[in-house]
Amino acid sequence: MAISPRYTREIPHRYRLEAQKFECGAVSLATRYVCPDSDCKKSKKITLKGTGKILTYTIIHIAADAFAKETPYAVAVIETDEGARLTAQVVDCNFDDLKIGARVELVFRKITEEGASGIINYGYKAVLV
Ligand SMILES: [Zn+2]
Repeated sequence: MAISPRYTREIPHRYRLEAQKFECGAVSLATRYVCPDSDCKKSKKITLKGTGKILTYTIIHIAADAFAKETPYAVAVIETDEGARLTAQVVDCNFDDLKIGARVELVFRKITEEGASGIINYGYKAVLV
């Protein structure tokens, strides 16, 4: 088993929970040259604590092939305590316990397995706290 190098390059924040904090205070997970909230350009790299809350969520019943065997599953838009927003699967929970504003923690888990090659992609998923 090996971690896919292509995946690592394309989505670095999925491995390291790194984000950019701009001088105005805006936080972005995506690599940007200009702040998403204002036109400021100075930013520094920060590491997110991995805690936040659910802004909105949905239950997926029909999914693309790679995720089909995991349905039904919950996906939430999460705002981290630093203010960054990301979409993540919420695992190990009763769907009844999901609600807007619920506290979550990001945990490092397997995301997909690429067929017979056994290459496994890892990333962050959310659990309720
Ligand atoms: Zn800004």
